[in-house]
Amino acid sequence: MNKPFLDKLRKIDPYVPGEQPKTANVIKLNANENPYPPAPGVTEVLRTFDAAKLAVYPDANAKALKTALAEREGLKPSQVFLGNGSDDVLALAFQSFFCSGEPILYPDITYSFYPVWCDLLRIPYETMPLDENFCINLRDYDKPNGGVILPNPNAPTGRALSLAEIEDLLQHNADCVVIIDEAYVDFGAESAISLIEKYENLLVVQTSSKSRSLAGMRIGYAFGSETLISTLEAVKNSYNSYTMDSLALAVGEASIRDEAYFRETCRKVAATRDRAADELRALGFEVTPSLTNFLFATHPKKAAPEIFSALREKGIFIRYFKLPRIDNHLRITVGTDEQMDALIAALKQIL
Ligand code: PMP
Repeated sequence: MNKPFLDKLRKIDPYVPGEQPKTANVIKLNANENPYPPAPGVTEVLRTFDAAKLAVYPDANAKALKTALAEREGLKPSQVFLGNGSDDVLALAFQSFFCSGEPILYPDITYSFYPVWCDLLRIPYETMPLDENFCINLRDYDKPNGGVILPNPNAPTGRALSLAEIEDLLQHNADCVVIIDEAYVDFGAESAISLIEKYENLLVVQTSSKSRSLAGMRIGYAFGSETLISTLEAVKNSYNSYTMDSLALAVGEASIRDEAYFRETCRKVAATRDRAADELRALGFEVTPSLTNFLFATHPKKAAPEIFSALREKGIFIRYFKLPRIDNHLRITVGTDEQMDALIAALKQIL
């Protein structure tokens, strides 16, 4: 049958997120979620939230949450941008800052959403190969470009650059916008937020999904100069003024205001990560040094897809990427100590 309209539809290969298994009693270590609940203040907001408030639109400028974030970081609320998860913030940032027509630069092994946004938004890009230890060579980024984006720490490798290295990148890239995607920074790496005053072209993107146990709520943010933030606001307000709903704004504020709970949760995850990394190494895995809430590992004797499937059979879900250079690696989210013990016990049977 001839259906000419089909030729007019957008063809695109979308990003595929980690599987959300439907069965109960699984151990879910495949989406870098936090195994602990959000801060107690979040539960209180959900318990007391007045449904009648949903009849009116949320505060389009999200003043209360922006103020909480700005106070925490020592910035002005006008230097904070909010979005429906950091994927929303990043997609808008690509649209707002990577429009020169020159190729943008990012590592060959990195967050697999970047090429999808480039494709969607028709942004040319070049990937810079990580070295054999999955380290970024900063000198690869010393060339004319339409922008730079790096996750720090990188995903799915877990490796982080120091603050001095991020500053080096900025010194060599003054003529474009540099985005540092800090989705995992709270588990041990250094944030680049302190460089914002000095570098007007730096955008730092963070999320509540990982370190604040709020992946289900969709709260992401960006910090930068007023020039960058006002550009993001203008682009956002050209497609949807209300990306943040009233409940998410209230929950986000309660989470940001509880610094002690946040720190304790990150400390627990980091301690479990380091212990689990040692145990995986004892089983023969090569584990890339990680400053995130996940471990990136390969086993010299057993192929990654086989380990992935065998764990899945046992109800333990981890992540496998069938991508060049990393198709014999596994990404394992750090769960509770009990979950990691179950993982190690299962691996002992499989290997
Ligand atoms: N950046 C990186 C590097 C990620 O791994 C993720 C999680 N998939 C995100 C951003 C987006 O997270 P969220 O939209 O939940 O804030």
